[in-house]
Amino acid sequence: MIIFKTNVELAKYIENQLLSNKTIGFVPTMGALHMGHISLVNASKKATDITITSIFVNPTQFNNAADFAKYPITLAQDVTLLEDAECDILFLPNVTEVYPNGTEKLKYYDLGSLEKLLEGEFRPGHFQGVCNVLDNLFTIVKPSKVFMGLKDYQQCAVVAKLLEITKSKIELVTCETLREKNGLAMSSRNARLSLEAKEEAKKIYACLQYIKSNCSYGNFENHKKHCLENILGPNFKTEYFALLNTTDWELVDNYIASKKTNVLIATWLDGIRLIDNLEI
Ligand code: AMP
Repeated sequence: MIIFKTNVELAKYIENQLLSNKTIGFVPTMGALHMGHISLVNASKKATDITITSIFVNPTQFNNAADFAKYPITLAQDVTLLEDAECDILFLPNVTEVYPNGTEKLKYYDLGSLEKLLEGEFRPGHFQGVCNVLDNLFTIVKPSKVFMGLKDYQQCAVVAKLLEITKSKIELVTCETLREKNGLAMSSRNARLSLEAKEEAKKIYACLQYIKSNCSYGNFENHKKHCLENILGPNFKTEYFALLNTTDWELVDNYIASKKTNVLIATWLDGIRLIDNLEI
């Protein structure tokens, strides 16, 4: 694996690859890699000639300074994981490479209701940061396909919108969520959970499964109450737990069989914010 730290070096490499008609698959990450990230690398390797993974903890997408400061960094381990997965290129830029004009004046992307619901409501400005960093990284990396995880369901929709707004030809490939044996969705932030909290956190997926099994009968509010009170219990502070009609991007009160629906949750455990979702 070759590691590039500057746009200039990476641009030279990419130009040569494109001249030899190679397709580029891109896996943008913030590091602290786990097998969920590696599943994206594997998907990219299957579908494209060259796989480029980036590790960049993007300051503009953190609406909480403490969360940014505490974001886990495990670079040596990340390099080993990527080498084992036979990733071709690791792009490790600093802030100036990604934001040559600084991070103060960001571009604005009109994301409509996508930015107002769920993550948009609880993390104001987050998706503008995501769009800014990806727009800049796409310009540098010039991929034909970008690989993103459905674990961040709303982010996938935001990226689809970004590609539409920028009239990009990049294809978005969404990949299934990888989970720990106990059902907990893999996440870099899990590294900050104690062993006990990791065990406790399996209740999040249990709630999603409960909704999936039960939402055809009865009322979602009652099912939600059952999940919050009887499955999650007092250790969790839940920001949202909602049903979303994913075709129209509308929150719904109850499951309608004819509409594509996901159940999504964001909840705090042990000072760590965890998100997950499940298609119903
Ligand atoms: P992050 O480093 O958290 O920004 O994530 C980088 C990419 O990995 C995003 O597209 C995430 O959706 C994806 N990802 C994170 N966790 C998982 C997971 N458990 N399974 C699959 N993809 C994931």
